[in-house]
Amino acid sequence: MNSAEIRQKFFDFFASKQHQVVPSAPLVVKDDPTLMFINSGMAPFKDYFLGNKPAPYKRIADTQKCLRVSGKHNDLEEVGYDTYHHTMFEMLGNWSFGDYFKKEALHWAWELLTEVYQLPKDRLYVSVFQGDEKDNLEKDQEAYDIWKTMISEDRILFGSKKDNFWEMGDTGPCGPCSEIHIDLRTEEEIAQVPGKELVNNDHPQVVEIWNNVFMEFNRLADGSLVKLPAQHVDTGMGFERLCMAIQKKRSNYDTDVFQPMIQFIAGEAGVKYGENEKTDIAIRVMADHIRAIAFAITDGQLPSNNKAGYVIRRILRRSVRYGFTFLDFKKPFLYKLAEVLSDQMAHVFPELKQQLSFVQRVIEEEENAFLRTLDNGLKRLDTLEERFKENNNTIDGKTAFELYDTFGFPLDLTALIAREKGLRVDEAGFGVEMEQQKNRSRNASATEQSDWVVLQPDVSTDFVGYDRDEAESYVVRYRQVKTKNKSEYHLVLDQTPFYAESGGQIGDTGYLISDSEQIEVLDTKKENDLILHITSKLPQNIEAAFKSQVNAERRNFIRKNHSATHLLHAALRKVLGVHVQQRGSLVSEKLLRFDFSHFAKVEEAQLREIEHIVNERIRQSIPLEEQRNAPIAEAKGMGAMALFGEKYGEFVRVISFDREHSVELCGGTHVYNTGQIGYFKIISESSVAAGVRRIEAVTATVAEDYVQQQLNELNAVREVVGTQSNLSGAVQKLHEDFKVLQKQLEQFELKQLGTLKESLVQQAQQLDGVNFVAEQVEVSNADHLKKLAFDMRQVVDNLVLVLAAEIDGKPQIAVMLSDNLVSEKNLNASQLVRELAKEIKGGGGGQPFYATAGGKDAAGLPVVPAKALELVKNSLKQ
Ligand code: ATP
Ligand code: MG
Repeated sequence: MNSAEIRQKFFDFFASKQHQVVPSAPLVVKDDPTLMFINSGMAPFKDYFLGNKPAPYKRIADTQKCLRVSGKHNDLEEVGYDTYHHTMFEMLGNWSFGDYFKKEALHWAWELLTEVYQLPKDRLYVSVFQGDEKDNLEKDQEAYDIWKTMISEDRILFGSKKDNFWEMGDTGPCGPCSEIHIDLRTEEEIAQVPGKELVNNDHPQVVEIWNNVFMEFNRLADGSLVKLPAQHVDTGMGFERLCMAIQKKRSNYDTDVFQPMIQFIAGEAGVKYGENEKTDIAIRVMADHIRAIAFAITDGQLPSNNKAGYVIRRILRRSVRYGFTFLDFKKPFLYKLAEVLSDQMAHVFPELKQQLSFVQRVIEEEENAFLRTLDNGLKRLDTLEERFKENNNTIDGKTAFELYDTFGFPLDLTALIAREKGLRVDEAGFGVEMEQQKNRSRNASATEQSDWVVLQPDVSTDFVGYDRDEAESYVVRYRQVKTKNKSEYHLVLDQTPFYAESGGQIGDTGYLISDSEQIEVLDTKKENDLILHITSKLPQNIEAAFKSQVNAERRNFIRKNHSATHLLHAALRKVLGVHVQQRGSLVSEKLLRFDFSHFAKVEEAQLREIEHIVNERIRQSIPLEEQRNAPIAEAKGMGAMALFGEKYGEFVRVISFDREHSVELCGGTHVYNTGQIGYFKIISESSVAAGVRRIEAVTATVAEDYVQQQLNELNAVREVVGTQSNLSGAVQKLHEDFKVLQKQLEQFELKQLGTLKESLVQQAQQLDGVNFVAEQVEVSNADHLKKLAFDMRQVVDNLVLVLAAEIDGKPQIAVMLSDNLVSEKNLNASQLVRELAKEIKGGGGGQPFYATAGGKDAAGLPVVPAKALELVKNSLKQ
């Protein structure tokens, strides 16, 4: 059975048990501060488990893209080394939301595995929860009794909280679980050690394939458990492991899920997979990581230098590094692999193909940048080599850490290069540096969040901000959040006009006003479906009725900028082409920023045309057409843009300004009529990443002010230049005149420099076979000082020259020696200049024959020549 059939059989099986089969949610998580990427099949359904939102179906089955590279579930370091952990993998799941429970779930799991997939019963083991004293939980006898009817009791094992109590994160829904393991070893191997002893023991051939979780609890921040309003089933089966079991392979990488990529990599590297442990690991790393990288970028997460973007960048760099070190890929390669992946997976995940060329460009650019960094790091190692040799043939911990931190060299790579050079690495020292950095970042980000204080349970927030700036509200829950420097409160209201930051639009500010007090709302944020009003203090009377009032003037600017963003998006597609896709945006009261895919600079003329189109739409006063609850299919039919990243089963809000021009899915606040925007002006166009451009623009009075300010500046220039007509011509002329004068001045100064040189030559003093010159001189810049020194060297033999000068208020010293003096008389310009620099409170250095120094104290300059004479006399004596 190939992998596509295996996946399909899963869907068909659960469809036959009345499950609705839905597509995978995007890998990238948008509105959840506790999670960067989906790490399990249940994460997209979190709100249903918590009871924040009703599930659209009671029974669902799906395959969910998961990424386990950060946070509670992090398998990154295993990947490549073992045969069954991946960064990105598919989790097949069947779900009951308050519907069936343990009995059905376990029976169906058994039926699917043993009857549909025909896995041998005598190779399967199951585990159930043994209970836990700390959490005051009993053992899961119910699950045990169900299994007993299907499988012999010596194949049912009890497991601890670590393996048999599933938790998504530090807080959130959780419950006991029952795992199914398979023993894939040969008969001979089994004869030696019974499979039972290897379950949950990290044996590569005795692996967990399926976990059935019975969600019953919610873990709170204080560590306690509370019962969820209903019981649910959440199951997760590792698709790649299932394929290994059914296809009777000993490694996930030997299945048809990975083989196309493995063969491609091996072919390009000119090696055979399976012959050398080192190259095999590198091949597995690359075959695995390309999936995480390509899916993440496709789902909207570009590599970057912070947060989720940094996680992706690190994965990408990890694979470049393995390819670079073990497969000799010195040029970008991963981007080619993205195509192999897309060819193979597009039938299940069509988004891979649709975004392929964009994804490839992003990857290639990242690869190039990192390969350059690697190269710089190698060079740095080369230049420090002497120092390491002197340091007992050791690369010190600090340098190893610097290589890691700035050049992306992990310790193993540094160690590898060190070995080639006959050096070793101070690994303990590296560990110390690493620990220190961790502490620094831990301290910077430590937050303490109290549990919610719930005043009105089961009340969800009614958002009324599309229609109003004000509402009557009650607080339904609140909590305190403390970080190192501040303490704030999060208030959730039963009804609110405040828009929470999302979709690029910033959060509203305003006030909560009761009869007795007024509380400022500093910002509004979203956490899943909760709208958090952020304040610096708690109302004294928290149960009062509040008038919740958005800062309307600010909100109006935001509306204008948001609607203008839609008009800009449409204009971009019209002028540049339909490949333009939104890659990010920011809508604030001050400006709008729009990032989009496009592969070249937007020309000036195109910018003017785009601006013109937007202003035309504004002048046409097009009314807003808003559909608050359109099913996704209908929105698609209207040609809505930005369909990526929507979760399945959601109703969407469609915003259009004349359906011909602009139709978008959008949750933001908008003007009622484009005329309200008033005026639109682009203020910059730039590049943000490979294939991504950024336009910033302003609207309404901000745009007016911007234009006025430009005009004011122009007028100021007119005043200075003293002309009303042909300003650019006049400035051009001024500029040319200036260049002519500058040249004349330079020539004049050089002539003076020549005269100065002549007089210095005359002053040369004979000292023990040396021509000694030391003088304080006047020159206009450092280049001239250098030129003077080098010119002197041309005409005077056996020269020891010391020049002191004040340049732009700062003291400088230059020392020049004839080459023969360096070798014969044991003189050294670097040493000399360092000694002399003490007089001017400075330092410097250079080469043995020429060195310079700068300092802070020009008052010391006059003593430099005399000191130089003394120093040189002394060294000539020795
Ligand atoms: P393991 O102990 O093997 O790491 P787990 O306990 O972390 O597994 P769960 O969180 O229960 O796994 O996830 C459900 C299923 O997803 C597992 O039974 C397994 O088949 C699969 N799975 C988990 N992590 C990975 C991974 N990194 N790569 C591939 N499949 C995985
Ligand atoms: Mg795990």
